[in-house]
Amino acid sequence: MSLKQVHNTLERLCNLLRVEAREQGAGGGLLPVQLEALHYLFQCNRYSDTVQGVTEYLGQTKGTVSQTLKVLENRGLITRHPDSSDRRLVHFRPSRSGRRQLAHAVPARFLSAALETKSATETQQLADDLIELLRTAQETRAMKTFGACKTCRFNERVASRFRCGLTGESLSKPDTEKICREHQYPEAC
Ligand code: SF4
Repeated sequence: MSLKQVHNTLERLCNLLRVEAREQGAGGGLLPVQLEALHYLFQCNRYSDTVQGVTEYLGQTKGTVSQTLKVLENRGLITRHPDSSDRRLVHFRPSRSGRRQLAHAVPARFLSAALETKSATETQQLADDLIELLRTAQETRAMKTFGACKTCRFNERVASRFRCGLTGESLSKPDTEKICREHQYPEAC
């Protein structure tokens, strides 16, 4: 496949994702960007579930993100939680109804249908190739990676326990599956 074909194919897939996000969002009275913010908050860890984290992830202004979070909160799709050690910091987490709405929207239906006949190995290979492509693109543009904690250079494993070498805090096994705004791949050190 030529470079141009890769570009064209990705463009059309992104378009399909946008169309479905519009449809799914409209069904629940949300704009695609609001659905995207909700999905981000579902995936991210406790260091990333703030206005700043959403702002960096979506690449939008703080004001726009604050409005987005206000809409999600007013609809009962997220809840706010003051930080236990920094009073200025507020964390946002999807509520039960937010999680329910996401379960309808992610993964996109067209993707589930298209990959239905693929084996788990084939689907994993596709995911690995896409992650590699994303990682290279992020490095080229010097962007934050927002990768899964278990792939971060600060993730330390001692026996059966995990620890963040950056913050010095313990991590649970589910924590290591979440994405993080401080994430860095090992090669970046
Ligand atoms: S190990 Fe890395 S990804 Fe995990 S919490 Fe620490 S900085 Fe974030």
